[in-house]
Amino acid sequence: MKLVARRFDTGRVCEFSLSDGRIESIRPLDSAQDEHLWIAPGFVDIQVNGYGGQEFSSADLTIDAIERIAAAYAAGGVTRFCPTLTTNSYEALEHGVRTIAVACRQSAQLARQIVGIHLEGPYLSPEDGPRGAHPAEHCRPPDWEEFARLQAAADGRIAIVTLSPEYAKAPAFIRLASSAGICVALGHLSATGQQIRAAVDAGARLSTHLGNGAHRLLRRHPNYLWDQLAEDRLWASLIVDGQHLPPEVVKTFVRAKGPERLVLVSDLSGLAGLPPGRYQSSGCELEVLADGRLVIAGQDQLLAGASRTIAEGVANIIEFADLNLPTAIGLATSQPCRLLELPPGRLQPGDTADLVLFDFSRRRIEVRATLLAGQAL
Ligand SMILES: [Zn+2]
Repeated sequence: MKLVARRFDTGRVCEFSLSDGRIESIRPLDSAQDEHLWIAPGFVDIQVNGYGGQEFSSADLTIDAIERIAAAYAAGGVTRFCPTLTTNSYEALEHGVRTIAVACRQSAQLARQIVGIHLEGPYLSPEDGPRGAHPAEHCRPPDWEEFARLQAAADGRIAIVTLSPEYAKAPAFIRLASSAGICVALGHLSATGQQIRAAVDAGARLSTHLGNGAHRLLRRHPNYLWDQLAEDRLWASLIVDGQHLPPEVVKTFVRAKGPERLVLVSDLSGLAGLPPGRYQSSGCELEVLADGRLVIAGQDQLLAGASRTIAEGVANIIEFADLNLPTAIGLATSQPCRLLELPPGRLQPGDTADLVLFDFSRRRIEVRATLLAGQAL
C-alpha cells in the first residue's frame, strides 16, 4: 500500500510504502506539492473509560464490548490505549481486569492495542470534591495484598495505578508498585505537601488529570496543586477538552511542567459518543447535552465525565498553550510511550504502521483514517 501525506513532524510531503504491517520506505516528494492530509503515529490514550454506553468498569463487561470500544477509539485515531477502571468493589474490579486479560489472550489485535490497564482507584480520597464521581463507599486505603490479587487476575497487565498519597500506607504501597514496574500516579487526592513529597520519594511519577478531581474551593497556598506543579519529578496528564480546565490553566500547567513532562489524555466516559439525552450510569442519572457535554442530569454546570477525543485535545492545546503541531502531537504519541516505556510510534522505515491521517485546519483536527498494522479500519 502507498500513501501520500504531509509528515506531522517536518511538514514534508512524503510517499509512504507499507508492507507486512510495517512502514517499508518513506520517499520525500517535491516540496511544492500541495497536500492537505497529514500523517502521524497513532494516538496513545492512557486514560479512557469506555464509549457509546459501554464502560470498562461495568459489572457485566464482555469481550464484545471491549472490541466495540477499541474500534470506536481507532476511528478517532487511537491505536493504543489503557482501559481505565474506576473505584469499585473488589469483585467488580476483578471481573473487569480478568475480562480485559482474557480479551488480550484471545485477540492478538486487542493485545497490541491495550498497552496496559489503568486502575484509577479504589485507593482514592473519600472526600467530596477530590473523589469526583468515585463512590465514597468504595474509596479505601492502599492494600498491596488486594492489588496483587487484581494484578494476578489481570495477567500482570495493570500498568498504571492512580491513588491518593493521603493514606499512611501509601509510601510502602508505592514502593512495592514502582519496583514491580507499575507507573504510580497521584490523583483524586486531599494530601499535604509532605505526603506528596513522600509519595514521589517512594516512586510516584505522574499527576493524573492535574487540576481536576479537586475541592471546589481551595486555600490559596499552600495546596496540593502548587505542590504537584512545583515537583519536577512528577509528570502530569491533562484533559484538554475545553471544559475540564480553562485555557489559562492549561497554558500555565504547560509552562510549569514543559512538554517533556506532560501527557494528553481524553478520559473519555463510557457515555461518550451517545446522542443527547438522559442515561443511567453507576446508579447516577447523567445527561448528554446538545453541545456534547456530559453532566449530572437536570443542570448544565457539573461535568460528569469527558466526551471529547484526544485529537480534539491536541487541537485545543495548540491554541491554549501556543504549542506547535509536532509538540502537541507528541503529547499524545511519544510522551505516553516514554512514560510507560513502550516502543514509541514513529514515522520510520521498519516501524509498525499504526498511523493516523488527518486534516488540520483552523485549529481543528479531523481524523480521516486510521491504520492498525497497515490495515485501514
Ligand atoms: Zn479521575
